[in-house]
Amino acid sequence: MLQGRHALVTGGGTGIGLAIAQALAAQGAQVTIAGRRADVLQAAAAATPNLYPLTMDVADDSSVADGIAAAIAARGPVTICIANAGIAEGRALTKTDLAWWRRMMAINLDGAFLTIRACLPGMREAGWGRILAISSIAGVRGLKGAPAYTASKHGMIGLIRSLSEDMLGTGITCNAICPAYTETDIVTNNTTSIARRAGISQDQALDLMLSANRHGRLVAPSEVAQAALWLCGPGSSSVNGQTIEIAGGQA
Ligand code: NAD
Repeated sequence: MLQGRHALVTGGGTGIGLAIAQALAAQGAQVTIAGRRADVLQAAAAATPNLYPLTMDVADDSSVADGIAAAIAARGPVTICIANAGIAEGRALTKTDLAWWRRMMAINLDGAFLTIRACLPGMREAGWGRILAISSIAGVRGLKGAPAYTASKHGMIGLIRSLSEDMLGTGITCNAICPAYTETDIVTNNTTSIARRAGISQDQALDLMLSANRHGRLVAPSEVAQAALWLCGPGSSSVNGQTIEIAGGQA
């Protein structure tokens, strides 16, 4: 289905990003997986054919420009761009200092902007492209106790919606995927931090998160990957500027 396509997935060495990278690679795409940890990326690439590791910090302008230029030189224009890298942590607004706020924005929002901007010229030249931002249900509603994360994920949706208007009729579509709590390191780490902050057990913290998922269970990374695959494959070219919630119900 995706033979001959070059895809880039940021944060592609773990969790949702890795599941998307594997799904794209299984359909014949050559997939550059970008992230900060070379060992994690190399292990992921060694385990799955058609994955290529790229060490890159999405919050750093020149790291993104140089990294994506190197991937394009090696495998051709990136025509599938998945802006997935992100961090997630709750912190009350009054406990949020500017440095922490900026770190959240730098990775989640600036990272998506820099990644997409670097891939766009190649898509324009090819006359075809798929841009996906992995936002969150926190991109479409307010997540209690997480104002910085929520603002960064709303920002990603604004970016996608605006760009989708600019890309009308070009063969390039831009969409956001908004998962609810998904079974990855982010949930494991958040269980620990919610339990500590709220003075509750890990099981109670997990129950709190499960209650936010409308079907009462964690989403599997593969469920998010299947939605991404559909948006990158044939048959979805009229889907543009959308936010697809993978949340068990309405977020
Ligand atoms: P994860 O921690 O496995 O994935 C995040 C990836 O981003 C990691 O590989 C990490 O190394 C990478 N990353 C972080 N900072 C980076 C940087 N500066 N440069 C490059 N890479 C960087 O967790 P995940 O759940 O797979 O998260 C993937 C995306 O999904 C994130 O954007 C997250 O906000 C979003 N999301 C996750 C959930 C969830 O419950 N797991 C729900 C909604 C949205």
